[in-house]
Amino acid sequence: MKVLKFGGTSVADAKNINRVIDIILENKRDTVVVVSALGGITDNLIKLATLASKGDMGYKTLFSSICERHNQIIRDLIKPKEKEKILREINIKYKELEEVIENIFTTKELSLSALDAAMSFGEQLSVYIISEAIKNRNILCEFTDARTLIKTDDKFGSANVDIEKSYKIISNYFKNKKNLSIMGGFIASTQKGITTTLSRGGSDYTAALIGAALNVSTIEIWTDVDGLMTADPKKMKDALLIPEISYSEAEEMAYSGAKVIHPKTIKPAVLKGIPIYIKNTFNPKGVGTKISNEKENRK
Ligand code: ADP
Ligand code: ASP
Ligand code: MG
Repeated sequence: MKVLKFGGTSVADAKNINRVIDIILENKRDTVVVVSALGGITDNLIKLATLASKGDMGYKTLFSSICERHNQIIRDLIKPKEKEKILREINIKYKELEEVIENIFTTKELSLSALDAAMSFGEQLSVYIISEAIKNRNILCEFTDARTLIKTDDKFGSANVDIEKSYKIISNYFKNKKNLSIMGGFIASTQKGITTTLSRGGSDYTAALIGAALNVSTIEIWTDVDGLMTADPKKMKDALLIPEISYSEAEEMAYSGAKVIHPKTIKPAVLKGIPIYIKNTFNPKGVGTKISNEKENRK
């Protein structure tokens, strides 16, 4: 069994989502897929909530553009016969988001829990659309709300996961699952069911939690660069790919700002000895980076 996680750029538009589905198709047996919000949407949701909290009516235009971006993907990817139904379903989600934002507008207060509620719609919307796009390519696929599987405390914005409880729920949930499963990363909930988030970039962490709970063979983080590099390749043209690295070195790089992998991702994997691969959605044949203790053990 494997976990495949796709980041924001990988699922930013219809063309990229089709690439992602191609990669999923190569792995579809015994796979759990974790997806981020469409690239840029989490930032937009924060902006949306912030505008509303300041009483700025400009939030309405931003709200419409967020909905339109998702609708465009539905129009691009879903067969005409299904399209109306899916647009109707997604409208229910837009209404829920609108309620969260209108509440912020009315109270002029942006609490961390309200911000988590707003941000969670990025993954709630993306997972629904991507699961429908997968079905549209004739693959059986079930989507799960990650908030029912990952339980946290109420440290909104960067919640602490109740590992034992979450692993139990996750392993029970997947016991009899036969089809491809997909869920949003980043989002979770408290024992009382209130939405929380795992901190920015936290979908990688979700993938590691699911992988560790299910004792998978590999956790794959699919992103927009070839792997973990000696420096941020967007800033340093001569950054080099690191094909193999230990958990502790990768963790140190992540804590020092290599945002290609969220720092909390390493611990669940190392405790179960599961290798993490970082791969490029736009260069799937590339070797990527393998994070494990193999190299150290060879010494
Ligand atoms: P995703 O949306 O797929 O999770 P992120 O934007 O979170 O992707 O992380 C990928 C980005 O991390 C790359 O586009 C790159 O600019 C940046 N990055 C920063 N440091 C590094 C590094 N040392 N190696 C690779 N990428 C890095
Ligand atoms: N969508 C969230 C963010 O932008 C989580 C993630 O992408 O990993 O921070
Ligand atoms: Mg990321």
